[in-house]
Amino acid sequence: MTWDVKEFAEAAEVTVDELAAYVDQSQRGMAPVLRRRPPRELADKLELARWIREGGMTPEDYRRFLGDYLREGTRLHHPAYLGHQSAVPDFPAALADFVHGATNNPMAIYEMGASAATVEFEVLRWMLAKVGFRDGGGVLTHGGSLANLTGMLAARAAVAPDAWADGVPADLVLLAPPSAHYSITRAAAILGLGERAVVPLEVDGLGRIDVTRLPAVLEQVRRSGRRPMALVAGACATGTGLYDDLRAIGEFCAENGIWYHVDGAHGASALLSDGHRHLLDGIELADSVIWDAHKMLRTSSLAAAVLVRREPDLDAAFQQQASYLFYGDQGFDLVGRAVECTKAELGLKIFLNLAWRGERGMGEYVARQYETAHRFWELARNRPGFVFPYEPESNIVCFRYGTADQAAIRERLMADGTFHLTSAEIGGVRHLRVTVMAPATDDQTLESLLDHITPLFSA
Ligand SMILES: *Cc1c(COP(=O)(O)O)cnc(C)c1O
Repeated sequence: MTWDVKEFAEAAEVTVDELAAYVDQSQRGMAPVLRRRPPRELADKLELARWIREGGMTPEDYRRFLGDYLREGTRLHHPAYLGHQSAVPDFPAALADFVHGATNNPMAIYEMGASAATVEFEVLRWMLAKVGFRDGGGVLTHGGSLANLTGMLAARAAVAPDAWADGVPADLVLLAPPSAHYSITRAAAILGLGERAVVPLEVDGLGRIDVTRLPAVLEQVRRSGRRPMALVAGACATGTGLYDDLRAIGEFCAENGIWYHVDGAHGASALLSDGHRHLLDGIELADSVIWDAHKMLRTSSLAAAVLVRREPDLDAAFQQQASYLFYGDQGFDLVGRAVECTKAELGLKIFLNLAWRGERGMGEYVARQYETAHRFWELARNRPGFVFPYEPESNIVCFRYGTADQAAIRERLMADGTFHLTSAEIGGVRHLRVTVMAPATDDQTLESLLDHITPLFSA
């Protein structure tokens, strides 16, 4: 059935009205940051079964439904949203999602969306330049986990080119710190290396790779007749938000001929901030890098980039005969570079944010979030009972309050929707974890968080 474009325009207007009110309320902290009504109750409230059975929603019904739907969700724009590392989307990226929803140009093959494909290509060129890969190549994927898998595939193709056709040699191992994101271990399992092929690198008390111990680990791997497929470093680590020493690790990998993969899912965006770029010093030594836009580049989930230093390495990831991508008369097909076949217009989300805010504006956002997290550390350190295992480097901070069960503190704050925060283990000890994602979060929010925690349990 064709669209009734008048009805569409009316419903779209409802959407814009409701979303504008929702974001406005959220940003001003005028509603609980989250609600967790039991699913059965929620299904009834939203009349899900009836709508599925009967259909017939009109723009007016839709307005009521959308209002309830938004009220019962989690408000990432809320100043008290300090939870997971999901982006607080900026509106140009939201517009891109809307455009994609209507046009659906799955652009992994050029003929299915020339403008979408070209936008992705240019966004990738911009990202490659930021990382410092002059002859690099890339592709956008539906998320960092797929991006890590793709990076590992490229590493495997470089180290064991026959693996694509013949299967994986039994002597390959993956070197990664225990603090690496779980998608790395999963990639090892999916690729057929097996989870046990992940050799844990030695780390300091905060989970950062101990560079001085790298030669000993490598020596041990080689003596046991195994070969490193890749070494993974974090920029930054999901749990702590701390960066590994990318330059020292990169130099070690270069000297020893090891594929160097930098997981910059969260922290590569600091490349855009003059004051924080130094955290990524040495990233240009990597063979592959991943960078999520749906964390610190403020797009909705998902849009991630896999970037490689030598372009043919990415094409080799999925076939033995690597073809080379270029702007020909017929365009180019990115389908040979990705796990996905059908792919969304991911580049448009990143592009519109850039087009609206500029690279500088996006860098200022990253800087502001990192600085706000640092101020939280400054504020809380002076209060009795708060213990911080490290000075934050990014917008992720871990801490403990008193001797109480830290998970219980988190539950209490979440239960009434006052704050949304997470927790993480450092050296086997449970910590509270704050991620400053929302532009609305300020010093006052953070003081208020401390005020809320203090009376919950005596230090
Ligand atoms: C979030 C994250 C990932 C996984 O990315 P998804 O987009 O959630 O799949 C991988 N590595 C690091 C360091 C991350 O922070």
